[in-house]
Amino acid sequence: MDRYAVFGNPIGHSRSPRIHALFAAQTGEELSYSAVMAPRDGFAVAVRQFVARGGRGANVTVPFKLDALATVDAVAPAAQRAGAVNTIIVELDGRLRGDNTDGTGLVRDLLANLGVVLDARRVLVIGAGGAVRGILQPLLDAGVGAVRLANRTPANAASIVAAFADPRLGLHVANERPYDLVINGTSAGLTGGERALPEGVFATGATAYDLSYGAAAAGFLRWANDQGARAAYDGLGMLVEQAAESFWLWRGVRPATASVIEHLRKDIQI
Ligand code: NDP
Repeated sequence: MDRYAVFGNPIGHSRSPRIHALFAAQTGEELSYSAVMAPRDGFAVAVRQFVARGGRGANVTVPFKLDALATVDAVAPAAQRAGAVNTIIVELDGRLRGDNTDGTGLVRDLLANLGVVLDARRVLVIGAGGAVRGILQPLLDAGVGAVRLANRTPANAASIVAAFADPRLGLHVANERPYDLVINGTSAGLTGGERALPEGVFATGATAYDLSYGAAAAGFLRWANDQGARAAYDGLGMLVEQAAESFWLWRGVRPATASVIEHLRKDIQI
């Protein structure tokens, strides 16, 4: 049976084993998927051991996405642009290919599951960490008109804008025209830290989306509703969609996601 795993530290919270077990059952693919807690300074060794024991692929989560970029033998364009790897594919000759499915997962959730229109739309992204880096190119590729970044530490947002060098990507400034889509890509909901959110950023009929999900997203979604967002969603759909993209990269089979999102939604309500 082909073996897959997610590597992180900590890893107990990861929903990936549950998601991939549901995908495998649904598609009839014979595989096992486990969670591996790698030492903080031992990601590369842990992955190489896993591959030596027959591992066919891996997901990578906090804090190893940069280590994964440095560990793989080849880097796909999405991972290069994101500066991070969340999916490792073990090629037939044993070489490791690194990819990043986070941004594809977000765009698929927005377009296919939630019916959010992206074409020519104005998007505000709050945050400038690894996840934000991963979603920007897929958003731009999906045809958005403009993306503006706002972040607690403005220099981090500025360095992303400089690195992308895309005329549609810039920094948010106060009193800009409001946005059609406001995405929260900070980890403030997870860490419980205080945050200042920009005022008056929602255009009429605008959508809000938090990359985090469940309780971690609650504060942002409440704020978005208070600010007049038409709809506000958490990132559970993105989580399942990025996993489906990894599954497809490994197995060449695309699982259906709606029932899996429903299962996960029930899980996090328990
Ligand atoms: P990083 O640690 O790389 O970045 C954290 C970002 O949050 C930085 O921009 C940081 O600002 C900002 N931040 C942290 N605390 C606060 C605060 N109290 N107030 C304001 N801003 C704050 O995290 P990631 O980019 O990896 O992850 C961000 C979020 O995305 C997490 O919630 C994660 O769970 C979620 N995610 C969801 C996925 C999904 O599939 N649904 C996939 C990947 C991530 P500064 O630059 O000032 O430090």
